Amino acid sequence: MNLFEYQGKRLYKDFSIPTPKSIFVSSISSISDNHDLNYPLVVKAQVQVGGRGKAGGIKVANNFEELIEYSNEILGMDIKGHIVESLLIEEASTIQEEYYISFTLDRSAKKYLMMLSSKGGMDIEEVAENNPDDLIKLYISPSEGLNTEVVNKAIKDSKLNKDFNDELNDVISKLYNLFVESDCDLVEVNPLAITNKGVSALDSKVSLDMNAVYRHDNFIDIEKEIPIPVSEQFAKEKNLNFIKLEGSVGIIGNGAGLVMSTLDVVSEYGGKAANFLDIGGGAKAETVTAALEVLESENNVKSVLINIFGGITRCDLVAEGIVEATKGKDLKWPIIVRLDGTNSKEGLAILLENSNEKITISSSMDDAAKLAVKGAN
Ligand code: GDP
Ligand code: MN
Repeated sequence: MNLFEYQGKRLYKDFSIPTPKSIFVSSISSISDNHDLNYPLVVKAQVQVGGRGKAGGIKVANNFEELIEYSNEILGMDIKGHIVESLLIEEASTIQEEYYISFTLDRSAKKYLMMLSSKGGMDIEEVAENNPDDLIKLYISPSEGLNTEVVNKAIKDSKLNKDFNDELNDVISKLYNLFVESDCDLVEVNPLAITNKGVSALDSKVSLDMNAVYRHDNFIDIEKEIPIPVSEQFAKEKNLNFIKLEGSVGIIGNGAGLVMSTLDVVSEYGGKAANFLDIGGGAKAETVTAALEVLESENNVKSVLINIFGGITRCDLVAEGIVEATKGKDLKWPIIVRLDGTNSKEGLAILLENSNEKITISSSMDDAAKLAVKGAN
């Protein structure tokens, strides 16, 4: 479960990780002038997408008037398809240096992975690609944990400011404690800054491992605060396994594995999936109809790829669902269908009988993905 910045920073405070003093608001009317924060204040859009700064979602207010003005501007803003519904207002920091740090799990190494870089405040994928030597990787055995000497070496290797070595070491060990004790999948701070008040975590990206929900009462409370997109809510009611993504190629498939590889193939051909949607095994016609209905409510979808490999799922029933959902309709987007496996002959015959000019049948997953990517451009 991915948290918003304000939720991650609340966890930072629980673990005594230094982070600016802040308030969280979800409406203009709840912002009053008698907060106990000192100007200048940073108004930060709470959306789960990076690059908010560049998109205009972060502004510095020097007085109450500006605070209201910028809050008004940012609330409701659309940042890469995410509508801003809340703000974190925090005391601005005077930044001297910006670093990057993250903790994740490296499954293949069976270890935790800490990444540290002096090139913070920017896109870390870019650093990894163009200046890989500036990203220090440290594998940590979960049974041994972090030790001070190893962290000191990582700080030195990353060429972080040595005047702050002890403070950095302390903050890093607290971030590690948060990562382990709160069963996180990810704790990322970009930037972890040296400010005039010392080391401070200015941004937060935290993801919780929901498999551990049974031992963390707070996970459920945190989950309740995260608004579910309307489409995900609808999909849940229809028993569909749907996750909204950023791209434009709508995906429908049967079985999580097949859907995952469909996402990969779409990406292989230069496209980006708009979603993950698994209709499950043994889907009936109405399941397919509901799946198409979910995608209809998604504005970013520009083409749809239906990839079915029938085992217990019968391709003829899937075809019936497609026909049911599209018959006589002026479709918003092209649909590319690949049907294979149980009753695929019957399924394809049904589609041919009820042909729709926007529906293309494709015999391979590769061709289908290529066409879907083309259709989305
Ligand atoms: P992101 O763009 O979504 O990753 O949002 P961040 O919270 O990381 O902020 C982006 C950038 O804004 C940071 O790297 C800083 O350079 C700048 N920034 C954020 N907070 C402050 C602040 O309190 N003071 C100053 N001077 N800059 C800030
Ligand atoms: Mn950031």
